Amino acid sequence: MSTTIFSRFNFATSSRERGLAFANRYFAGCCAHIDEAAGAHRALELLSREQLSDLDPDSSIREVLERGTPPADSLDTVEFGMKLEEEIGASIPSSDDAIWESLLLRVLLGPSAMRTTWDSATLPARSVRGVIDERVRLRSGCACGQRAV
Ligand SMILES: [Zn+2]
Repeated sequence: MSTTIFSRFNFATSSRERGLAFANRYFAGCCAHIDEAAGAHRALELLSREQLSDLDPDSSIREVLERGTPPADSLDTVEFGMKLEEEIGASIPSSDDAIWESLLLRVLLGPSAMRTTWDSATLPARSVRGVIDERVRLRSGCACGQRAV
């Protein structure tokens, strides 16, 4: 029991460190971009269930998620769903594709996701950088004016 808690704590710490390393590598110089890059990195690790130590901001969301580990069985699927529900603070009614896409949008864009004008169906084709820029736009406070091409 204590081992489980300890390893979870370790994972949380290093996940945060990976997120900050990614944010500082590609978005240094702007607090809003660093925060949101770290937040997007965390969301992508959660969704892909992989440690993304070499995340490329120009890869698409689809590419990142395809590298991930899909749930192994139905119990694993339920646990994964619960983790995502915990992340967005809401319950997920079922698992059809449209719901998965809007869930993806909420997890990836974070607390301000409800204000985006993005169609959730376009999300897989967008770049990691595009997601970070949208998170920054939704929360405002960007000092660098960096935009996705
Ligand atoms: Zn910025």
